[in-house]
Amino acid sequence: MSLKVFNTEARALGAFVPLEAGKVRVYACGPTIYDHAHIGNFRTFLFFDVVHRHLEWSGYDVRFVMNLTDVDDKTIKGAVAAGRSVADFTRPFGDAFLSDCRRLGMLAADSYPRATEYIRQMVDFVARLIDKKHAYVAEDGAVYFSVASFPRYGRLKGIDTSTLMAGARVSQDEYEKEDARDFALWKRAVAADEQASAAWDSPWGRGRPGWHLECSVMSLTELGDTLDLHLGGEDLVFPHHENEIAQSEASTGKQFVRNWLHVKHLQVEGRKMSKSLGNFVTVRQLLDEGFDPASIRHQLLSAHYRSDLNFTRDGLDASRSAVQRLVDFDDRLAAAPTGPGAATELPPVSAETLEAFRAAMDNDFNTADALGALFGMVSRVNALLDARTTVPSDDVKSVRDALASMDRVLGLLQLARAARSVDDSVAAWVEERIQARADARKRKDFAAADAIRAEIAARGIAIEDGPAGTRWKVTDASAARVG
Ligand code: AMP
Ligand code: ZN
Repeated sequence: MSLKVFNTEARALGAFVPLEAGKVRVYACGPTIYDHAHIGNFRTFLFFDVVHRHLEWSGYDVRFVMNLTDVDDKTIKGAVAAGRSVADFTRPFGDAFLSDCRRLGMLAADSYPRATEYIRQMVDFVARLIDKKHAYVAEDGAVYFSVASFPRYGRLKGIDTSTLMAGARVSQDEYEKEDARDFALWKRAVAADEQASAAWDSPWGRGRPGWHLECSVMSLTELGDTLDLHLGGEDLVFPHHENEIAQSEASTGKQFVRNWLHVKHLQVEGRKMSKSLGNFVTVRQLLDEGFDPASIRHQLLSAHYRSDLNFTRDGLDASRSAVQRLVDFDDRLAAAPTGPGAATELPPVSAETLEAFRAAMDNDFNTADALGALFGMVSRVNALLDARTTVPSDDVKSVRDALASMDRVLGLLQLARAARSVDDSVAAWVEERIQARADARKRKDFAAADAIRAEIAARGIAIEDGPAGTRWKVTDASAARVG
């Protein structure tokens, strides 16, 4: 069997065939960094991580890009309220987001482009669309995409675009668009944009990019004209992704995305999450409440990404037990009394489980069924070990290998082990020190940065710099445990 995915555009499950054999180019719509990401966002981001991990596990050479939206209406509003530039205002939220990703055991992306780093490319892109008559400059200096120039508009959502006009007509009076469906590629700068240093020169005057444009330009620049997978939450199908298709295909003349995958929104304590309902939760809050990252990861992966999932604290307690069961199982295998004897059923159980696990993940990343296969193995093997005094070491090894292999996709055991080897106050201390070191490096105070690295090393923790920032791991658990 090979990977099948549910492509939003085809509205059906289909074989996943990348453009170039063996290579997969993935673009994931990342967070808007005007606040801390919430647990709903992380349902989506952890799904991205599972896609990333499963593709690598399946042997693909994956290039994985996730953007950080650092200029849009919300970041500008936040920056103005804080009296800062968008760059200064969003930086701590971007750092906090990457730290949350690390705490939840997410693989680093190959690149995390920020919109403000691609303004020149965005201006060039808009100019090209104007040249090709897919865009026009309105009297106020804003540039709009001409939906009428792109007949395939509406195909992702599956709508007849003529029905769009009626509903959108109100805004026609507000903007000088030629057609109510047209959307802004480039917005003319207003006072707030200048105040937040979120305005740039362009052939059409001072302005800033529209949000949809940002993702098209970052993805095409980072990954080329055609992406194999484009991922996001379900609310992004329309208009965000529909508009990305229109802009990108009008510009390149090629298919933009071969497969669109969208994650269903998470509910929290039975309801849509909102500040007014009091069920708005961030990852850091849950960690502060004493829940561990592996439990959060387990609960968010416990349902298939297109199914409903209700996140609850009771559910987190159940997830904590499930993760503990895995840790205990792994410990039991490590300590299992081995000795010569008749072959056991362990190797066939391991092989069957791996097969069921692969089939579940290949079936549109069905993490619920994959977890079912894994925990089924735990029960069967536990029963087998209960019934024997010793088992051949190769048989135990087959189970340990299967467990480690599945965990490369799920990332639960790794995370539970890492989190349990230091307590939360130590983890928070390390994150704080890593941030202080990054700040020192930004100031070019390398002596201070080196001193911080030594301070961390003295606590039995090694740090490593990479594209996702700095990762850390415990090298001497006894030192790391000393509060
Ligand atoms: P934002 O930071 O608002 O741009 O959202 C980042 C990502 O999280 C987007 O892909 C959203 O679709 C997704 N998202 C927002 N709310 C939820 C939710 N309740 N459940 C799952 N994903 C969400
Ligand atoms: Zn996007």
